[in-house]
Amino acid sequence: MNIATLLDMSAEAFGDRVAVVSGDTRLTYAELKAAAQAAAQRIQASGASYVALLDVNSVAAPVAIFGAAYAGVPYVPLNYRLTPPEINELIARIAPALLITSAEPARIVEPRSDVVLIDRAAFLSLPAPAEPIEPPDDPRAVAVQLFTSGTTGKPKAAILRHENLMSYIVGTVEFAAADEDDAIVVTVPPYHIAGISAVLSSTYACRRMVQLEAFEASAWLAACREHRVSNAFLVPTMLQRIVDHLDASGGDAQLPALRALAYGGGKMPLATIQRAMALLPQVDFTNAYGLTETSSTIAVLGPDDHRAAASSDDPMVRRRLASVGKPGAVEIEIRDDEGRVLGPEQAGLVFVRGPQVSGEYLSLGSQLDADGWFPTKDRGYLDAEGYLYLDGRADDVIVRGGENISPGEIEDVLLEHPAVADVAVVAMPDVQWGEGVAAAVVLKPGAQAAADELQALVKSRLRSSRVPQRIVFKDALPYNELGKVLRRLIRQEFVDAQ
Ligand code: ATP
Repeated sequence: MNIATLLDMSAEAFGDRVAVVSGDTRLTYAELKAAAQAAAQRIQASGASYVALLDVNSVAAPVAIFGAAYAGVPYVPLNYRLTPPEINELIARIAPALLITSAEPARIVEPRSDVVLIDRAAFLSLPAPAEPIEPPDDPRAVAVQLFTSGTTGKPKAAILRHENLMSYIVGTVEFAAADEDDAIVVTVPPYHIAGISAVLSSTYACRRMVQLEAFEASAWLAACREHRVSNAFLVPTMLQRIVDHLDASGGDAQLPALRALAYGGGKMPLATIQRAMALLPQVDFTNAYGLTETSSTIAVLGPDDHRAAASSDDPMVRRRLASVGKPGAVEIEIRDDEGRVLGPEQAGLVFVRGPQVSGEYLSLGSQLDADGWFPTKDRGYLDAEGYLYLDGRADDVIVRGGENISPGEIEDVLLEHPAVADVAVVAMPDVQWGEGVAAAVVLKPGAQAAADELQALVKSRLRSSRVPQRIVFKDALPYNELGKVLRRLIRQEFVDAQ
């Protein structure tokens, strides 16, 4: 019950296989274990309470994750895209710490006596310990601490214990499942749960992990070809950019090795997944829904459901392409605002329970209820066969005169207009109703659509309370690096415009 045992098993079974490739550096499983053992010795000698990483994806990420686990110290990857004051505030919250970084991000770190900086290159060439370091067997020890993005206040420190991550990996990934040639390309940043879960699952499956510093569609495609990548995980905006790139270059993906593509982290637009399936017919697509607090994936819509949805005449099967699938190794329940459990097709708040669910934050403690259920911030419903449909975040619901309006249903209608490329529906202040419906719309290049035409489209499809009372046209919507639209910024614009 220590995540370092995942590496122990793979190094024992396939020590000679390449575990991780990044630029010119490549480590076999035996070398990754040796580097993590050397890191553990350094971590223990430093007396640090945390091991932090402030850097882009590189070989140092898996070495730090497993090194921290061997040393029995929590691993804390930091978001290098935050502002310097934000980063320094987070560093102050984890001192005393050993901070792995490289020249560029190191420049913004304010010197502190209780934080030891170590350069990435030095971290990767530490001497091996005289005796092997056994990972401590404490399932309740904290393996990873992730700061939330802080969109709704100060960043909270979500805690994932060894038992949470181990039950997720061992419960969902098959040990040594990969062929010698299997490779996964990792483009999600190391400070996101998807980046950590990619390292752990790739290690346990004994895959080759190809790490790219940042995402760019042509570089991603080139890396897939060069490294004969078989598996990938992308957030929706990344897949959209790949689809756009392929469409612009004639549609021939030339990715014969690519077999499986998982996506998640945010809502996938229907048009994007449909186009991706058409461009990459040999690829198995999987939609993975997960949260930081649940050690990543809790529900999946697998390849068979994708194919069935794409080819079926049955509308109930076709609509599954918009679902995040069925619960994996967890239970999922939908409840109303009073906590009553709802039946099929009834929308409410999504609750999740299972050993991979931590639901715990430093200082705030556990957010699980007495029966172990964690309230996600997502709204949604289950169908009669147990497929989960998400309906947006509870925080984004527009409350218009006591009526709850989900932005997603309005966005879906607006996206059907041929001129609309992107849209975000948000609440705006309204004297009569408290909140009203507003939309920020991005039109396709050269396309035209007037606000009243879009309002008429919504009116023809939904109740009149759903019709946006204000529509603004924009060149682009604000997104974070993981492709989540920053609604708070759009909402603020409508507040400021009042
Ligand atoms: P923060 O908590 O820091 O403000 P966040 O909630 O976006 O940020 P994450 O844990 O990274 O942090 O994201 C989890 C959320 O992402 C889920 O609650 C859900 O809203 C969304 N999400 C994840 N996977 C999917 C998916 N496959 N489809 C739709 N939405 C998804």
